[in-house]
Amino acid sequence: MNFNDYENLLDKAYEKIPDNVKKSKRFEIPTVELRFEGKNTFIVNFNKIINTLNRDKNHFTGVFLKKAGTFGEIRGQQLFMKSLHKEKVLNRLLENYTKTYVLCKICNKPDTEIQREGKRLFLKCEACGAREEIKEK
Ligand SMILES: [Zn+2]
Repeated sequence: MNFNDYENLLDKAYEKIPDNVKKSKRFEIPTVELRFEGKNTFIVNFNKIINTLNRDKNHFTGVFLKKAGTFGEIRGQQLFMKSLHKEKVLNRLLENYTKTYVLCKICNKPDTEIQREGKRLFLKCEACGAREEIKEK
């Protein structure tokens, strides 16, 4: 396949995307801003992260702390984490959370909500209408 064919293919694919999907602005996965106090870590922009992801903060905190393998709690606008954590590692966890629980698997937009059915979780996308089961890793 030459480059022009590929371009045409992209154009065709783009035409099939509904208009409301095209319009929504580009989403960027947030990154953590950290403050260290004694031997502990605070994510100081925790509230901003929650607002960007548009997820329940208790759900996020539960998953995030478990993956980080540490104890912690929400303290006001910040997330307190026991012991010292590397920024790079936390950003990776944040990225994984966003890909699993926020971004639509079909159109990759963040306009989604989590729906619970018994023990199963689904990600419902407002942008393209897809509904995919969330596979927790
Ligand atoms: Zn979608």
